Amino acid sequence: MTSTRSEHKNFLMHAKCRDFTNFDVANMSEEECYWHFVEARFGSRDTFACPGCGTIATHYYRSNRRQWRCRHCDKDFSCTTGTALQDRKLPFKKLLFGISYFVSGAKGIASLHMSRVLDVQVKTAFVFAGKLREALARSVDQTPLSGTVELDGGHFCGRPRSGRIRKKPSTTAIAALVKDALNKQAGNGISPKPRPSMTRANIKRRKNRRIVFVLRQHSGTHERGAVRTMISVLTAETADQVMPVIEGNVVKGSKIMTDECNAYTRLNANYEHEVVNHQIEYSTIDGVNENQAESYFSRLRRYVVGIAHNTRPKYLPDIAWEMAWREDYRRNPEGEKTAHVLKSMAANGRSLKWRGYWQRAKLQTVSAPA
Ligand SMILES: [Zn+2]
Repeated sequence: MTSTRSEHKNFLMHAKCRDFTNFDVANMSEEECYWHFVEARFGSRDTFACPGCGTIATHYYRSNRRQWRCRHCDKDFSCTTGTALQDRKLPFKKLLFGISYFVSGAKGIASLHMSRVLDVQVKTAFVFAGKLREALARSVDQTPLSGTVELDGGHFCGRPRSGRIRKKPSTTAIAALVKDALNKQAGNGISPKPRPSMTRANIKRRKNRRIVFVLRQHSGTHERGAVRTMISVLTAETADQVMPVIEGNVVKGSKIMTDECNAYTRLNANYEHEVVNHQIEYSTIDGVNENQAESYFSRLRRYVVGIAHNTRPKYLPDIAWEMAWREDYRRNPEGEKTAHVLKSMAANGRSLKWRGYWQRAKLQTVSAPA
């Protein structure tokens, strides 16, 4: 069957992608948004399990408090009890709008932007987005990858800045300008040496450098690209750090495609290892490439550079998992993505990292899945 032009266009251009948008939430009432949360949490409006004792029944509903009293254990609960949104202060409409807005950003959402959209403080938006990311990170399918898997490491967080004067001018004209500038400095009694790039600030920046190590499983068909993504945040792309992550997350005997980095030389023992030399080509004639891993880094880097403008190592794991989710769900409609976020929040209990953030002003250090 010949494929039509419309099949090849970007998924975000299809009308089916826009099944549940920000606009739809804006047209819903607070009551409708509330019942949307109830159905996402319990799967029903009247008969479901008590979060305390697990008894499935039609519990006693107190509509003025929007709470149920369990028929078995007599405990009160609401549709956010035992989820990351427990003790929420925002109305359900703002929460649902926030989630819908969060999923609609192909490259992620800035907290500052979300604060203007939802009319909340920046810190509120920051903690809310953090809880959404944490829920996504905790709901990742941890089954090891198999088939064809691409691996690569990308550097984030600690990029040293170059000095004020360029050390290697690209043209003779610039070289003359630099020479002039240095002579002028010398005339003013200033040392004519260019500022060294490894200043104290840059040494500190380099300490913050982390490697986002990505593992992407191919779908098996050329059109679909990668379908599952795992990530791990490391401090260096060395065999000692990389091998345990690979062995824990990729089934032995799988085909692994990497670049020519030294960290991967031990892979031959348990895997079918194929290498593409990036100094020569992006893809070998046999189709060995890392384009799916590069696609992931492209999205993550666009978030870090263009949306967040900066990020710190302690926030990086959840951001990296968020972008892995955005890559894997890139061809799912907005409604499905919103439902997935709601389900992830309902299934993973209270937030481990962000609960009490307002009171203690400190992020809880809980390691993300490996
Ligand atoms: Zn109960």
